[in-house]
Amino acid sequence: IAAAATMILPVGACGGARTGIGAGSDGKGQVSVGISMPEQQLERWQIDGANLKKQLESYGYKVTLQYADGKTDLQSSQIQNMANQGANYMVIASIDGTATGAAAEQAQSNGAKIIAYDRLIMNTNAVDYYTTFSLTEVGRQQGEYIERKLGLKDGKKGPFNVELMSGSPADNNAKYYYEGAWSVLEPYFKSGVLQSKSGKVPKSLNDWQSIGIDDWDRQKGQAEMENRINSFYNNGTHLDAVLAPNDAIALGTVNAVEGAGWNYFPVITGQDAEKANVRAIIEGKQSMTVYKDTRQLAKATAQLIKQLVDGRKPDLKDTFDNGKKKVPSALLMPVSVDKDNAKKELVDSGYITAKDAGL
Ligand code: BGC
Repeated sequence: IAAAATMILPVGACGGARTGIGAGSDGKGQVSVGISMPEQQLERWQIDGANLKKQLESYGYKVTLQYADGKTDLQSSQIQNMANQGANYMVIASIDGTATGAAAEQAQSNGAKIIAYDRLIMNTNAVDYYTTFSLTEVGRQQGEYIERKLGLKDGKKGPFNVELMSGSPADNNAKYYYEGAWSVLEPYFKSGVLQSKSGKVPKSLNDWQSIGIDDWDRQKGQAEMENRINSFYNNGTHLDAVLAPNDAIALGTVNAVEGAGWNYFPVITGQDAEKANVRAIIEGKQSMTVYKDTRQLAKATAQLIKQLVDGRKPDLKDTFDNGKKKVPSALLMPVSVDKDNAKKELVDSGYITAKDAGL
């Protein structure tokens, strides 16, 4: 797997026509960028916001950074305000990719270029580019970890008990994460090697929201796992693995298992390499996380904006369909991390300190 650190945005023909992006594009004024982030509960969005701001400011651009506290209305009004104040570029990580559409349309009609960050803006033409990590690869790494730890490739027949959860039903990403994991796990569910005592297995991919955890919320994830544990696993039935789609929900799962007082932890997946989760991995409570180097995502996004400011046309090979158009997209590679490679990937790369990792 290619390390995210090697990501460099390809650039198309240089020196093309400048495309009316307002002040800054003609060298007369300062380029203005508005950044709209979903919330600050999760460390990753704080790191994303701070890195984007720093990187864009290093190019001499004026940057406004706003966090929407998980509230879709607040996010829309923040986007509109930044657009009204003359942002030439908007970087938007949506709370709800569909709900953001109207505000993005207004910003676009004000002349801003719209970049969807990490999460796609859905069902609108008002999105010019999308920068994210390979979404299905994130889920695939989670699924493959469960596959490997349960020895499924070595022919172990189980049956193993696995509980599945997906992310926020409002987040388009969550569907792709689940799809990636399901692509690995489905054959084992079909053959009966894997089973779910709760029966909470979506009938089809389109039904992924049926196991969604609203807002990717840790406490909601914990409550869901407490329910399943109390109803299906408190009689000595062994729970072998939990597909937790991100670190918030993984931590909720760890708490639920600790609350049950078992003398073991199931295989528990995650995503984001949040500090508390890396410590839980080192302590043997959580099994893995999918590390997405958000420093690289911020850098790739800032570079994309610089290309546009400089009048170069980004040449992005991938596209993502948002229901209205195929959006040119930059996809970075995530890295599967457990206690064997946590030091190398996270500490040696400077993503978190040894102390924060509990090492
Ligand atoms: C992001 C994840 C994050 C989740 C919750 C997803 O869209 O891709 O990195 O854990 O949202 O904020």
